[in-house]
Amino acid sequence: PQDDEAKLKIKPLLIYGVTGSGKSELYIRAIRETLKQNRAAICLVPEIALTEQLRRFFAGHFGENLEILHSKMTDGERFLTWKRIEMGTCNVVLGPRSAVFAPVPNLGLIIMDEEHEGSYKQETTPRYHAREVAAWRANQEGALFLMGTATPSLESMALAERGVIARVDLTERIDQKAMPKVEVIDLKRYEGDKRPSLLFSPPLMREIETNLKNREGTMLLLNRRGFSTSIRCPQCGEIEKCKLCQVSLTFHQEKNLLLCHYCNYQKKVPNVCGECKAPMLRFMGFGTEKVESEIARFFPSARIARMDADTTQKKDSHEKILEKFREQKIDILIGTQMIAKGFDFPHVTLVGVVLADVGLRLPDFRSSERTFQLLTQFAGRAGRGTQPGRVIIQTWMPEHPSIRFAKEHDFLAFYAHEKRCREEFHYPPYRSLVNIIIRSHDEKKAYLFAREIRDVLRGERGTGNEIKPGNGERETGSKTFSVSRSPFPEIEIIGPAPLPFYKLRGHFRWHVMLKLPTLSTPGVDRGPHPVWTGDVSVTSRIYSILMGLRKPSGVAFQMDVDPLNIL
Ligand SMILES: [Zn+2]
Ligand SMILES: [Zn+2]
Repeated sequence: PQDDEAKLKIKPLLIYGVTGSGKSELYIRAIRETLKQNRAAICLVPEIALTEQLRRFFAGHFGENLEILHSKMTDGERFLTWKRIEMGTCNVVLGPRSAVFAPVPNLGLIIMDEEHEGSYKQETTPRYHAREVAAWRANQEGALFLMGTATPSLESMALAERGVIARVDLTERIDQKAMPKVEVIDLKRYEGDKRPSLLFSPPLMREIETNLKNREGTMLLLNRRGFSTSIRCPQCGEIEKCKLCQVSLTFHQEKNLLLCHYCNYQKKVPNVCGECKAPMLRFMGFGTEKVESEIARFFPSARIARMDADTTQKKDSHEKILEKFREQKIDILIGTQMIAKGFDFPHVTLVGVVLADVGLRLPDFRSSERTFQLLTQFAGRAGRGTQPGRVIIQTWMPEHPSIRFAKEHDFLAFYAHEKRCREEFHYPPYRSLVNIIIRSHDEKKAYLFAREIRDVLRGERGTGNEIKPGNGERETGSKTFSVSRSPFPEIEIIGPAPLPFYKLRGHFRWHVMLKLPTLSTPGVDRGPHPVWTGDVSVTSRIYSILMGLRKPSGVAFQMDVDPLNIL
């Protein structure tokens, strides 16, 4: 993709289609066309749980032609499958991100379902994003790269806006089915005595009861990964954010401080809310297990199942739970984001989000986007059969854009809002992030090496300013430095700051964050090839500079381009 001389053969195509708009049918048609030309197709899916559903659907159309790759295969199974693919005996390959490397001869099409999903990025060595690999490979082999989703990533939307990739919108559900009606419940209205259950508002309780009576399926979502150590205002629902980085500040109990995990900004915990002066509350976390026990308490005759990382350890446990739910042997399915994605259960008419704010408290610039995606995907599970669907979202922040636009099923409005924030605060897609993580058993060594990395990249090595970690001093922007001495004047360098998981397996962890220009940065020339992240030649230069540093003993570092999580 670095070769600007070479012309791009076929532009990648992004299909933005609302949930239930028939993207799978469109994939089938695209594959049929490919097979007619005697060429082969690869279809990538984000998760193993979804492979099974798409396999059934594809098997009906392609039968013997279909080959499945998945991560739970033994080496022997994988070898035989790859051999069959290589010999061209099957010409439709379905699998997770690694299937992008499947050795199909005469490739004509790569499909990436749920393009926005983080699981397409491999987070261990060798780190790669299947989207970049697919675009590159499709171009090499003259194939079409087709991405589909109801909630495109901002990165792909921005590339489409710049004309680097093409975009098609499907804004209606098939068969004129209505989008489910979404009701947002403001939990502030039910504080204290007004709520018999701590977790469920009266409207959600009533709807669950109605569904049990009518023998219709209910799904309840609580994405519990979040920090119980955050702070919100009980009056206006506000969460404190860093003024520079726009990410939520995290509460540190032992120091009684709020801290920005991007730039290390710290402040005392305020006694009252900055917006409305109400006394601040600490948020106490709860998870899906609590939801399950509360449901059992209020609806003792309901048949309940829970699907999360704890209940799906064993092989096939996913499939068993889903099968029972499909056969309506379960009335209420409770789960994390695992149950939100892609499933097609026609008997589900009610989906409830127990607390939509969980993800918004994460100290991550993508928290709004992820929350919008999750709510939209989950709302799309309701009303896929003959009965219309209802969606109930409980929240402390009904005015938050992620919740407001999810209620209206309005991705394009959410995109228009979110892209302005990203541009203003220099986040993807307008910059590419590189996260350099430094860890050591020795707290001070980790911090000092992190600072050295920052200084070297800024071209101000050896200034000798001693700043000890954690003394509350603001670092970013507090020092003046000469831009001209920096080897990378076009790159912003932020930190070092402690990572949210500061102590992990006995290591102290600091990070330095870099912001590089991308194809979507205003003023940057766009080449013919789609690249979602920054310039690879620049990141390689940074990497060799880091490798050339004299690393103290007991200190390790890693460099992550386009990190999906900064935790
Ligand atoms: Zn900050
Ligand atoms: Zn307030």
